This record gives sequence, C-alpha cells and structure tokens, in this order.
Amino acid sequence: MEILKDDCHVLIITFPGQGNINPCIQFSKRLVKLGVNVTFSTSLTAFNRITNLPTIEGLTFAPFSDGFDGNFKGSMNNFHEFNNSFRTHGSEFMINLVKTRAKEGNPFKRIIYTTLTGWVGLLATSINVPSTFLWIQPATVLDIYYYFFNGYEDTIKNFPKDKFLELRGLPLLSPRDLPSFVFADSNDWTLLSMKDHVELMDSEINQRVLVNTFDALEPDALSVLKNVNMVGIGPLIPSAFLDGNDSSDTSFGADMRQDSRDYIEWLDSKAKESVIYIAFGSYSMIPNQLMEEIAQGLVLCKRPFLWVIREGQNGEKPFEKLSCKEELEELGKTVSWCSQVEVLQHPSLACFLTHCGWNSTIESLASGVPVVACPLWTDQLCNAKLIQDVWKTGVRVNANDEGVIERNEFERCIEIVVGDGEKGKELRKNAKKWRNLAKDSMKEDGSSNVNLKAYVHEVLLGE
Ligand code: UDP
Repeated sequence: MEILKDDCHVLIITFPGQGNINPCIQFSKRLVKLGVNVTFSTSLTAFNRITNLPTIEGLTFAPFSDGFDGNFKGSMNNFHEFNNSFRTHGSEFMINLVKTRAKEGNPFKRIIYTTLTGWVGLLATSINVPSTFLWIQPATVLDIYYYFFNGYEDTIKNFPKDKFLELRGLPLLSPRDLPSFVFADSNDWTLLSMKDHVELMDSEINQRVLVNTFDALEPDALSVLKNVNMVGIGPLIPSAFLDGNDSSDTSFGADMRQDSRDYIEWLDSKAKESVIYIAFGSYSMIPNQLMEEIAQGLVLCKRPFLWVIREGQNGEKPFEKLSCKEELEELGKTVSWCSQVEVLQHPSLACFLTHCGWNSTIESLASGVPVVACPLWTDQLCNAKLIQDVWKTGVRVNANDEGVIERNEFERCIEIVVGDGEKGKELRKNAKKWRNLAKDSMKEDGSSNVNLKAYVHEVLLGE
C-alpha cells in the first residue's frame, strides 16, 4: 500500500447497476492502494440497497438522487426514462461537487466514468476537467461499437444471418454474436450512449481507455484500433481470488442483497466438482418459459445445483411457478442472492450456467470454471461467442426453430461440460489455463498490474 497523495484525488461516477458497481469498487480499491484518493459516486438507486460498503482510508462515497432512488418500476422498454432522470440529476450533482471541491482548494485531478455514462465524459470536457473512460465489457465489444460508428453501421445492421462478418482484429462474427444494441433503433438511449463513448474516444488521439480485461485474453482486440490506446487492467475482482496479496479482500464490498450464507455450508457438503451453479446476473428478468426449461433440464441431469433466483420487481417468486418444484428441491438449492465470486471458487463447483454478463464471464475465467452460456442480450451475445469459440471454456445453448431453448438442450450442454467425454476434458483444461493466466496478469509483474501502475504514475500522479 502506497502512502495516499494529498494532491491526487479522482472522482469515479458509474451507472447504478451491480454489474457496473462491482468492477468500479474493485478498481477504486486498487487506485487507493497505489496512493490515489477516490470519491466513488453513483445514485441512491444503488446506495439504498447496498448493505456493506467498504471502509477504507482514501475511499469516500458520494451518493446522489436520480429522481427514483430505487423506486423505478418501469420495464427495460422504458428504461430510457430512468436513464434521462439519472443523467439530469447526476449532471447537476457532478457540477456542484466539482465546483465545491475546487473552491475548497482540493480539486479533482480527473473524473473517471464507465460504460453507459458517456455523459460524464462529455460534461467533464465542457468544464475542462480531464477524464478517463473505464470500459467494463470486453475489448472486443468496444471494438465492435467503434467500427459501427466509424463507417460500418449499415454493413453491421444488414448483415445476412448465415454469413460471418470480418472486422479487423476480431474473430469472425455472425449477427447472433453481436451486442444486441447495434440492432436497436438509432435513437435508442443505449445506442446513443455507445455513440457518446465512441465520439469521446475519437476526440483525442491515442487516449488511454482502461478495460476490465487482460492482455493475454484479448491481445488483438486491445491493440487493433489505431487511434485508441486500450489498456487491460482486469480482472477487476477481489484480490483474495486473484493475486492473493490481500486475503481479507474477499468481496466487492457492495453487495445489494445478502441471504444467509448457508449455501456455503451446503456447497461444503457436496463432492468435488459436482455442483451446477446457475445465475443470470443482477437485473435481467428471465421469461417464465426459459425458467421452466432450465428447471426441467436440471431435473433431467439429476445433478446437485445451486440456483440464484431473484424475486421480481413486485415481489413475485418465480420458483413457485415452476411445475417441477418438488423434484428440484430434492436435487439442489435456490437462493435469492449469493456471493458469486466466492461460490465460483468453491471446490464443489463443476459448471456455471450463466447469462454471460461480462462480470460473470470474467469471474468464471478467473475461477477456472467451465460454463454453459445462455446469453439474453447486449454484450452477453458476444461474450458467449468468445467463451465458446475463442477461449473454448464453454458451450452455448441453441434455440429451436421457434426460438425456444429446450430442456434437452440444457441437459445436453451441461452433460458436455461436466461429463467424462473428450470435449468436457478439453473445456475444463482450458478453464484452468485461463484461470492461471488471469492470476498471472494481476501479479506484481503481471500485465494488468503493470498497466494500472503506469496509468496511475503517468496520468494521475504525473499530471
Ligand atoms: N452477483 C452476485 N451474486 C448473485 C448474482 C450476481 O454476487 O447472486 C454479482 C456477480 O458476481 C457479478 C455481478 O453481480 O459481479 C453481475 O454482473 P454481470 O456483468 O455478470 O451481470 P449483470 O448484472 O450486469 O447482467
């Protein structure tokens, strides 16, 4: 731990989703260790639900109201309403905070913003405060958006479903591998927000963009854009599960929910590499039919499982609707939330059935757990492609002609991953290989550690 530098203070502003907060909290902790004071800010929608914020000297929290503060009841279809309110309130908050700090003689050296908060970067530019972009999806996905807004929009939108798209530095991609936002209406807030990011990247030649990935994982994707300096600084997961330098660092420290931890005891009681872990991230709602097919697939597999089933926005309990509840209760355990990084490291884990959110993906890679990939939308589709065809640590489920992923398909994929066949052995071997490379990247002389230190010394402390 370096001594905190009084004159180096940064403001981090992030979107209030768990998938944004987790890597940002981890990033903040790493900056503090390198001597940088951090003010971490997001809206009360997140803060009102967080139960265990870390208390670390040098890290302070600055929540703001987004106008809903946890009470937004809209669906994904009118999420732009939430985002507009978050942006308007957040802009006002940011301007006031920056001004106050400057008046007090303790100005922020830099503002760091993440995926979906390009407005922070634009606002920072308008008030002459330098900013850095921390991208918390794979470099490959950022490249795709970059190409999209630099001449490839029509090609990408109209690409035939049965052909493969060639983009320099990236694997061959079919339309089903592309982040779903590229097919959104051009006025959709998600796509406009990606446009902001790309415009900001284009506004300064060779700007450093920090990415929650590591060099060995995406060497070409990190280096293919000539005008952007993408730097791998991940995986941004707690130290105890990576470099091991800080064994007390076992959680992100910002869990939104925490059931009792009896699932750890339950995992302790299971044989080595026997349990299927199922989780679909922190916010996506799983359609009833998909839930039912997964449940029936688990019954067919007859293997122990731990399944995270979140309650619906209005307190619905999706597990209660399943037709095979009794059979499931005999085989496995359901929880409404768990410490996923801890679960993934448990010796009893055999396989992770995941929606392929980027955090879940990089956490599975860093834990050496092979996956069954069941992406729903956004970057998850591309992450599933990378898992199956590039890193070869998992298999992706296929839908039938009616677009349904059937129970037998879940059974087939789970059996490939955990079974004794050659394919399963290869997936497990690859998963261990990536786990070791992820750990290496965070060692003292590892690429991500070196890259982060260079950023801190050259950009934050050197300014
Ligand atoms: N997570 C967790 N417990 C759960 C489900 C998710 O700790 O029961 C964490 C998970 O470890 C990850 C984050 O929530 O860090 C989810 O991020 P991801 O990008 O995978 O998915 P999103 O929620 O953004 O769809």
